[in-house]
Amino acid sequence: MQRMQRGLPTKKPIQGVANILLVASGKGGVGKSTVAVNLATAFSRLGRRAGLLDADLFGPSVPRMMNLHAQVETRNGLLVPLTNYGVKCMSMGFLIGDTAPVVWRGLMVMKALEQLIRQVHWAPLDILVVDMPPGTGDTQLSLSQLLPVAGAIIVSTPQDVAVADARKGVEMFRKVGIPIIGIIKNKSRFECPKCRECTTIYSTGPARSFEQLLTEQQISLLADIPIDPAISTDGDTGTPVVVRDPTSVAAQEYLCTAQTI
Ligand code: ADP
Repeated sequence: MQRMQRGLPTKKPIQGVANILLVASGKGGVGKSTVAVNLATAFSRLGRRAGLLDADLFGPSVPRMMNLHAQVETRNGLLVPLTNYGVKCMSMGFLIGDTAPVVWRGLMVMKALEQLIRQVHWAPLDILVVDMPPGTGDTQLSLSQLLPVAGAIIVSTPQDVAVADARKGVEMFRKVGIPIIGIIKNKSRFECPKCRECTTIYSTGPARSFEQLLTEQQISLLADIPIDPAISTDGDTGTPVVVRDPTSVAAQEYLCTAQTI
């Protein structure tokens, strides 16, 4: 009622879904989808009923990253999600193919997203992870306003230019009243498997903007995932590191993060 009086859209829950968690980034390429896929899988490994919604309509990664390529069926007028590693997944890539380009205007995008959210047999789920489109545009804002979201996780590399965009994401979520659960730092360092020497990947600048963002906005660092060529291959083969190598540093970071949420 209060929301309607303030002219904001009404937040409608997804039937049978207990919690919605957004995984977002200010910039593309920082590893948002990789994190979303691994977190959803980690929840499932920990015994939670997990779902994964690929809201990145223009670049759906979930079909490939979760190794799901079958045809989606409908039951009683609702789409049946495809499941792998115990995670129920839905993506526009299942409906139109993950290589077909999407050339849509804003209204069509929102209609398609509404369908992926509301016309799917999600229930029963303890947690639905939403792989958000990158940036802070119209779609991100509308999604944040339409769903009763438990919280958002921001993914960023420590590079100044990525942190600047991550800050915009933080500010957007704050504006629409979505709690920031924390930030996941990705691809910050490479650890040599032979000599264990660590190499910093990105220039963080003298301002150490990543650390500054955490302090300034009072946000927790949830995980620090190293860069690892095998993680990149995982994306192509559709085997999240949480499944392929559950004792690795990256998998442990994901599992610990999932445990605290
Ligand atoms: P985004 O969703 O932010 O665009 P992706 O998850 O698609 O980013 O990741 C971008 C690229 O970086 C992909 O090739 C992915 O496999 C790779 N990648 C992500 N995280 C890591 C990592 N920790 N180590 C190595 N490669 C990674």
